[in-house]
This record gives sequence, structure tokens and C-alpha cells, in this order.
Amino acid sequence: MAASINGVGGVGFGGLTCSTKTPLPSSRSSSFRVQMSVPVEDKKRNYTLQKSQEAFNAALNLMPGGVNSPVRAFKSVGGQPIFMDSVKGSHMWDIDGNEYIDYVGSWGPAIIGHADDEVLEALAETMKKGTSFGSPCLLESDLAEMVISAVPSIEMVRFVNSGTEACMGALRLARTFTGQEKIIKFEGCYHGHADPFLVKAGSGVATLGLPDSPGVPKATTSGTLTAPYNDIAAVESLFNSNEGEIAAIILEPAVGNSGFITPKPDFLEAIRRLTKENGALLIFDEVMTGFRLSYGGAQEYFGITPDLTTLGKVIGGGLPVGAYGGRREIMEMVAPAGPMYQAGTLSGNPLAMTAGIQTLKRLKAPGTYEYLDRITRELVQGILNAGKKTGHAICGGHIRGMFGFFFTEGPVHNFDDAKKSDAAKFVRFYQGMLRKGVYFAPSQFEAGFTSLAHSPEDIQKTVAAAENVLSKI
Ligand code: PMP
Repeated sequence: MAASINGVGGVGFGGLTCSTKTPLPSSRSSSFRVQMSVPVEDKKRNYTLQKSQEAFNAALNLMPGGVNSPVRAFKSVGGQPIFMDSVKGSHMWDIDGNEYIDYVGSWGPAIIGHADDEVLEALAETMKKGTSFGSPCLLESDLAEMVISAVPSIEMVRFVNSGTEACMGALRLARTFTGQEKIIKFEGCYHGHADPFLVKAGSGVATLGLPDSPGVPKATTSGTLTAPYNDIAAVESLFNSNEGEIAAIILEPAVGNSGFITPKPDFLEAIRRLTKENGALLIFDEVMTGFRLSYGGAQEYFGITPDLTTLGKVIGGGLPVGAYGGRREIMEMVAPAGPMYQAGTLSGNPLAMTAGIQTLKRLKAPGTYEYLDRITRELVQGILNAGKKTGHAICGGHIRGMFGFFFTEGPVHNFDDAKKSDAAKFVRFYQGMLRKGVYFAPSQFEAGFTSLAHSPEDIQKTVAAAENVLSKI
């Protein structure tokens, strides 16, 4: 199995200790101004981030915080971001020439490995015909058919350009279909940066929506009710105190945005029952879990079918795609079939559709999810064993190609539990792993991702590195 799906495409791996090699040709770093006097350098390991540091200093003047998405700025791991130059398979190379085994996978999309040869070839073919049509094309229908036949809840789908857009569309649609405005979301679940979802996770059971960011009007979030994840009683109580007013519950069916948290055995089933009893829709935000926990997503894995589903990441194969879909009677309320307006200049873009189609074709092959399951189990078990052996409180888990671990005894069932993790220890662990050439998400509140391109050797090297780092922190 591994042999057939595991090709990294001829890119050599220079060992766990980061080796500094000649920067790949597209590096533009020499033109950046040097502003930092103290380079990030580890002479013993010949590991330097000098060029990344210069690039970041220059970027700080160009983009807010030097980045285009906040978590990339490495703020919660006490460092500065690493500027990448190229990616292939399970590996990444930064502009200083350091090599990493990557467990971020572009935050989820790279499930068959970065820059997969077949995806690149298909993109090159499509590109010959143009990069954007602004009119319907056959590729949209091809990807739509694949998504509809894979995801149990989806009878019709609308493609958009990001997970944020997908969740915005699904929420507007749930409100249109039910005629109600309030929604229930869970503390620590992220559904993109649209106003109604940016609600502070309060400590109370039924925290009424207060905006999490300046610029979000209170009126936009006043209909957003929150409950702790895995807490059915809290959800029941919200339904009781807002009878007949709830349009939908939206949730990550396995959480990736508070670290990796799984639903308790009866949680999703109870949520499904409660939404039905109260005339509310159930929205699974499968932007992370879609085509990752199984080909049919978390809903297939757990056997619970929601009314609406949002997708992103994997279905774009590394290009910007999101989608929302569900039962035909609901989806036919979307314009131009129905009255609910939602549109997009680049939606259904031929390049993005092509990358999505090729990625799903590869995922559909027999054995892919079994392979993801096997290597991810080995990775997580290896890290947990290493943690225990070296005397750390640690817990964690995985489902197929999605995983996480916390520096606490656990169990972790919700965001408050996750916050008990030793943040300072995570930073030490993170920095140690980076120096050994392992790139995890730069936050303890993000899930990790494996891909079909991760080899058993990648996993063994990562576990060995973790044991070494854990013995020193
Ligand atoms: N929903 C979930 C579950 C997500 O993890 C994310 C992004 N991490 C989003 C929505 C938003 O997607 P995007 O960043 O593509 O807007």
C-alpha cells in the first residue's frame, strides 16, 4: 500500500537535523533589508533563519503583522515565521535552505502530499485553456458530482472560494430555510471570520453573543449563542430558553480549532435529535474534516447526517475552494434557483476545480484512509509514549489523517480542557522540533495533518526527534 501511494517524487530528504543547503532558485531574500542585529542561529546544528528573519522584517512594513493570516505569524510559539520557498510530498524547504517534515499540510489541503505530480500536470493542461472563464465550465459539474456522490448529506452543492465563505453561505441559507435568526455554535469551534461567528467563548453555559473582535457590530452577533463542546445539557438549555427561534446548530464534528478534540460517543447523535425536535437545521462544518476523516467526511465516519455541510481545504487540492451543500429542497433556495443571494466572481474557477478533482480521484483509491490511519496512529502513539517515558503529562489522539496532543493529563473534551495544556512547554517543544526539522502548526490550539506522502520513515524520524526534545524540556 505505502509503496503505491507514497511517492515523494524524487525529492531527497536530508535527515532530521536541518541541513543548510543552497537556497532554491526562486528565493528573493537577498533583496530584503537586514533589520535584525541578532540572527536566529543554532551553530551546532548549522540551522539559521537569517533570511526568513530579514524577509519578515521587510514584510512587517508591507502587510499587517507581516502576514496574510494571523496564526502564520508564530506569535503563540514565541518566534518569527519561517518563509517557505518550496514544498514537495511531505516536506518543505525554507528560504534559508532548511528542510522540514511538514505536519501542517497548508492547514489541511495537502492530503495527498504537496505539489503532487498528477495535480501539477492536470493544472498545466487546464492552464493552457485559460485561468478563469467567468461562465459555467464542465469542471464545476465534474467536481460537484464527485462531492455529491461522496458526502452523504449533499444532494446539491455551491462552490465558493474559502471556508469562511462556505460557512457564511450555509448560515444565511439556514436562516432563509427556517425563517429563524439565532444560531448555536460551540466554544472553541472556528467557522471562518464572518461577523456572526466571531463570538467570544464565554465561561457561562449560555453566553449571549459578544463580538470577539472590534469592528463586529453587537447586533450581528446577538443571535449567536454558545455552548461548551460535548455538553448536551447546555444545548438543551439553549433550546429551552430560545424556543422556536433557533435556525441552526453549527459545529466541527471533530474539532481542529481548539487542538484536536473528538466528540463523545453520543454527542453528535444527541445534537441531531435535538435539532430535529426543535425545527432547527444541523450544519456540519467539515472544512477541516471533509475528505480527511473518510472520503465521505466526518458524517460518514460517525454515521450522522446533517442538513447542511460546509467544505474547504481538501476539495481545492491546494487552490482556493470552499463549498456548501445539503438536501435539494434547502439548496434550491439559493439564487438563482431561489431567493437567497450569494455569488462569487471566481467561484468554480477552472484551476481550483482541476486541483480538487485530481485530489479526490487519488483519495478515492482503495486503502488511502487505512494508510493515513496507520501512519497517524504510529505518530501520535510514538509522541505520547515518548512524552510518558520522559515524564511529561501528555494526552492526544487521531482520526485517520488528523491528530493532536496536549501537555496535560486530559481528558480534553472542550476548549476549557484544552486551555489546561502547558503553553510554555508547548513553545519549548515546538522550537526544539523546528530545529530538528519537524514543522508542526505554530499553535497548541491547531490540529495536525498527515498525508499520503508521509512515509513510515518520516514518522520514525519525527518520533525519535520528539523523544530527544522531550527529554530536554
Ligand atoms: N471552518 C473550519 C472548521 C476551519 O478550520 C476553517 C479554517 N481553518 C474555516 C472554517 C475557514 O476557512 P478559510 O480559512 O478557508 O476561510
